[in-house]
Amino acid sequence: MAQEERFRVFVRVRPLRNGEQNGGLQCGTNSVTAAGGQELGFSGVLPPDASQQQLFDHVGAQIVDHVIDGFDACIMAYGGTGSGKTHSMLGDAGAGQPGLVPLAMRRLAALLDPGAAGAGSGGSSAGQLVAWEVQCSAVEIYKEACTDLLPPRKEFKKERAINWGMLQQQRVRSEAELMRLLSGVMAQRRTAATAANEQSSRSHLIIALALTCTRRCLAAGGAVEDRQTTSRLHLADLAGSETADQSGQDAARKQEAAAINLSLSALKRVVPALARGDAHVPYRDSKLTLLLQDALSGNSKAVLLAAVSPAAQASSVTSSTLSFATTVRGLRITASRNQARTSKVEVERLQQQLAQARQELED
Ligand code: ADP
Ligand code: MG
Repeated sequence: MAQEERFRVFVRVRPLRNGEQNGGLQCGTNSVTAAGGQELGFSGVLPPDASQQQLFDHVGAQIVDHVIDGFDACIMAYGGTGSGKTHSMLGDAGAGQPGLVPLAMRRLAALLDPGAAGAGSGGSSAGQLVAWEVQCSAVEIYKEACTDLLPPRKEFKKERAINWGMLQQQRVRSEAELMRLLSGVMAQRRTAATAANEQSSRSHLIIALALTCTRRCLAAGGAVEDRQTTSRLHLADLAGSETADQSGQDAARKQEAAAINLSLSALKRVVPALARGDAHVPYRDSKLTLLLQDALSGNSKAVLLAAVSPAAQASSVTSSTLSFATTVRGLRITASRNQARTSKVEVERLQQQLAQARQELED
């Protein structure tokens, strides 16, 4: 069953910090207006006083329901450094401010655990839910080199192609377990960033939650059959978008920014190509678009969360973020439910194991 839907775009405006001047950004329910600019409409706007839970209710809840219902889905946080991307995606668990990733896991567990209201219904997917599991992967992309952030951490050379089958998975059963895993992931991300003498703001982080549901169904002839469906939720905390603006930098800085930014500029070519329905979409141009290929095409429902600062100092990056968000909101994607099947990731994982075994034989 195919369903045509717009790529949904939400804008979140973070609170003004001490010492910042208000840039005059106005928030409506579904629109923002920059000082002296025109009113721009979106699927929803989260104003500075919106809580993490309100963010999740607007942006995450429906996406999690799609995943339980057998669709792949993707939420990408895009915006300048300091605009609130990491706060929105991961949040601050210590301060009781979990972001979209832990709150998504909370909802998955709440809806799927036995005894929970609505457990086993799984929307319109036929059959009674008999088992479910979530496997988490986490990858960082920095200057086109990928690092698997799950222990033992593994780095891949930038020349190597990457797919999810090459990355480790760890089973998580609850929000608390995921939080523990994420705090390790964030520590790894920081380590990688310091080693390269860089800020985490210059790398992309993608977390994948793969949900496998086993449902007992009535097959033809009255036999009872267990069917498995895997659907994947990709959550991306993208690098600061200001690296896209290379003006006023010296040649060496420009070159570095271009390397950091290769994935973001590829994303900016992929999105309009999808919107136009091009026969060729340049997913292979970067690691980010390669890893998000499935999340952006075919069976996926996608959300862009444009994070912006209301400060006058950030007005140029705010307007470029809003301009990208405006391009994306016009995009229509066709999503269809995953059928019970051996997932593409499983195939990639098996191919990877085969390649490794061959390599070991040759050595
Ligand atoms: P980014 O990841 O986009 O670089 P961060 O998420 O790290 O930005 O946010 C920058 C700072 O602003 C952090 O100290 C963060 O805690 C704070 N912050 C961001 N968004 C909010 C918000 N909605 N409410 C409160 N503090 C926020
Ligand atoms: Mg960040």
